Amino acid sequence: MKKIAIIGGGISGLYFVNLLKNQKDFEYKIFEKKDNYNFLEGYGIQLSVNSIKLLNAIGFQNLPASEVNFPSKVNFIQANNSKKICDIDLTQFNDPLNRYTTLKRSTLLKFLFQNVPKEKIKFNSNITKVENSNGITISFGDNRNEKFDYLIISDGIFSKTRSLIFNENIYPKFNLNVALRGKLTGDFGSDISIYMGSNNHYVIYPVNQNNEYNFVAIIKKKLSSDELKNYDLFKSQKFLTSLVSGLQKTDHTSFENLSELKSFPVYVSNEFPGYNKKNIFLSGDALFTSPPSFAQGASQSIETANDILKCILSGSNDIYEKRIKHINSIKKKSAFNLFSFHLSNPFNVYFRNVALRYLSRNKIFLDNYLGKIYKN
Ligand SMILES: Cc1cc2nc3c(=O)[nH]c(=O)nc-3n(C[C@H](O)[C@H](O)[C@H](O)COP(=O)(O)OP(=O)(O)OC[C@H]3O[C@@H](n4cnc5c(N)ncnc54)[C@H](O)[C@@H]3O)c2cc1C
Repeated sequence: MKKIAIIGGGISGLYFVNLLKNQKDFEYKIFEKKDNYNFLEGYGIQLSVNSIKLLNAIGFQNLPASEVNFPSKVNFIQANNSKKICDIDLTQFNDPLNRYTTLKRSTLLKFLFQNVPKEKIKFNSNITKVENSNGITISFGDNRNEKFDYLIISDGIFSKTRSLIFNENIYPKFNLNVALRGKLTGDFGSDISIYMGSNNHYVIYPVNQNNEYNFVAIIKKKLSSDELKNYDLFKSQKFLTSLVSGLQKTDHTSFENLSELKSFPVYVSNEFPGYNKKNIFLSGDALFTSPPSFAQGASQSIETANDILKCILSGSNDIYEKRIKHINSIKKKSAFNLFSFHLSNPFNVYFRNVALRYLSRNKIFLDNYLGKIYKN
């Protein structure tokens, strides 16, 4: 029996252990820093059909229909005049069993967690050292050691475990944007709407069938290193209000029904860490984090976890190496989306809108830009 340690019980770590359910030759433990999960959180997540396919293979399609939403389009709207520029039909990437889905992040985590035996997850974990000779030895803050055959590092963008193992300076960088998240109630339709403003954009979509919507804005903002370290700043009402008031209200959105507002600086990975450590795999944001403007982080986290199991079973790292190339292409597309969503010069905005109208109907472009990722 081979032993697998999973550090970080987020989307990637929990998805990975769901795959182990049918693998009789492996036993596992998840080490999670938090003391528990908050399944009441209302923020949303978009899952494209590539990850839905993998989730459905572990029973995701059995979630109550009231807890998910299947958008059929992404609407692109110019925020300063409320005009719809165009839309992209998402159903062209669906198949009869797998559909683009939006839901609450907590609904996804609860689904992934429900089949994990409670004794398999160690909350409040504090890992202090990882040694990789003659097996993998993990040391904990309470002076205990445990030995494993494989290690999956899925402890998110600021991965401490990654730093313990890969000694290079791979700290993520602030990408000059702040994310503002909140809940919206009302009726904003069943699709995803992207409102493009000057140096900001915001996205609204339903997270279930109860008129609850996710609101997320990405706002360009220069912050000093002192401001970045000041967690109170991001929670302060004054800062949150200033972020909201910097967004253009449209005919459809007044922001009056926004609640549970939360802001945080957006960090992205600088570079891929080395990955040729025997039996040690990085997954999800710990492997690489792109700007959130392609809504692919969670989907890629799920795909990477799936590939890691294939590598372990086959004894070859080929699939993992291909994955890194794939994530690299998503990184470029995410950065390009962010750039074009935030254009402010009226000439650039005009040409962006003309290009968007044309490209949103161009099958070859859509297959290349989105299809290669969604139908992967
Ligand atoms: C504003 C915003 C919007 C986004 N929207 C989308 C979207 O719509 N669709 C999409 O696909 N992606 C989206 N993403 C990206 C997505 O949320 C992430 O890519 C995804 O959550 C990564 O999953 P993960 O499992 O790697 O990390 P996480 O979900 O961050 O989980 C990491 C886990 O590790 C734990 N942990 C941390 N440190 C330690 C430690 N030292 N020891 C043990 N445990 C530890 C944490 O507590 C956490 O439970 C968005 C991101 C942002 C910032």
